[in-house]
Amino acid sequence: MDSLSAVLRARALLDTLTPLKSDCGRLCDGACCRGDDSTGMLLFPGEDALYERCAFGRVLSAGFSLGGAPAKLFVCEGHCPRTERPLACRLFPLFLAFTKGGGTRVRMDTRAAAVCPLVSCGVQGLDAAFADAVRQAYDALLEDGTCAAYLHDLYRACRL
Ligand code: SF4
Ligand code: SF4
Repeated sequence: MDSLSAVLRARALLDTLTPLKSDCGRLCDGACCRGDDSTGMLLFPGEDALYERCAFGRVLSAGFSLGGAPAKLFVCEGHCPRTERPLACRLFPLFLAFTKGGGTRVRMDTRAAAVCPLVSCGVQGLDAAFADAVRQAYDALLEDGTCAAYLHDLYRACRL
């Protein structure tokens, strides 16, 4: 399985599920979709190929590397077709942490704290089907060596 296949599998698991059963964007007026011209969501390995000719956003260099390759950002216009949103948007506000024992666990993304009102609720405050699907999505990514290296680097970078 190549990296993009793993990313597509992970994306498919989160095609229809969202953090709450209701539209959480009504709690915050869609705060996580209100960036600016240079604020974007990190793309996963190979995912930039899906946005080469995109009508609702563009791909930028992030200016650093993850998993041994230059990282890419997707900068959108604040709206997108739900079926085409990047994986990072689908996983938000959850994040994969690596434990000292070599395992992993899904937890709230500390980078989301300033934006997302759901962070204070904890994982247990989210729709359980969404949290399960995020876990499965990360498991699919970890089966691919490139995606696993990307996730390790991202976790390390977020702990600095
Ligand atoms: S910031 Fe949090 S609550 Fe608001 S739309 Fe994004 S995920 Fe939902
Ligand atoms: S790509 Fe879509 S889901 Fe992601 S931040 Fe932009 S509008 Fe929101």
